[in-house]
Amino acid sequence: MSSIYTVNDETLVNIARVLGGEDGIRIIGILSERKNITVEEMAEITEIQINDVRKLLYRFYNHSLVTNRRFRDKETGWFIFQWSLQPALVEAYVTSTKQKILRKLESRIEYEIAHEFYHCHNPECPNTTFEVAMETVFHCPKCNEMLHRVDNTPVIEFLEKKIAEIKEELDT
Ligand SMILES: [Zn+2]
Repeated sequence: MSSIYTVNDETLVNIARVLGGEDGIRIIGILSERKNITVEEMAEITEIQINDVRKLLYRFYNHSLVTNRRFRDKETGWFIFQWSLQPALVEAYVTSTKQKILRKLESRIEYEIAHEFYHCHNPECPNTTFEVAMETVFHCPKCNEMLHRVDNTPVIEFLEKKIAEIKEELDT
């Protein structure tokens, strides 16, 4: 889809998928090409049921991804709602998602740096912390095999790289 907004298409599609699945992607796709479109028009173009279109729009609305304006139809006297993407808020959503990921990665890297890990080489068993390994006298709590020190340097390096990437994205 070719977007008229600054948020890149891939990000938009991902958000649409998370919030609304394949139908959500189609709705966001139309909204990225047209402004001020009604539920009825969207239902006609996508062949998604009007009620489902409306449900998706309100889900997007609750996440501040879309906006609407309403006016009164001169002939019928009814309110007509027109919907548009809210590009600034889509970017805000992306930023806050990245910040959440950053906080998770930072607490994970703190945990990795602060702990020593042990493993029994059995692929079905999880890593064990030093504290637990002490209690079991360096035997796996699950299979009872000997525990060996796990070098988590690659994990820490990977996390450092990811954190640097996200920080750079948030700075720009
Ligand atoms: Zn084990």
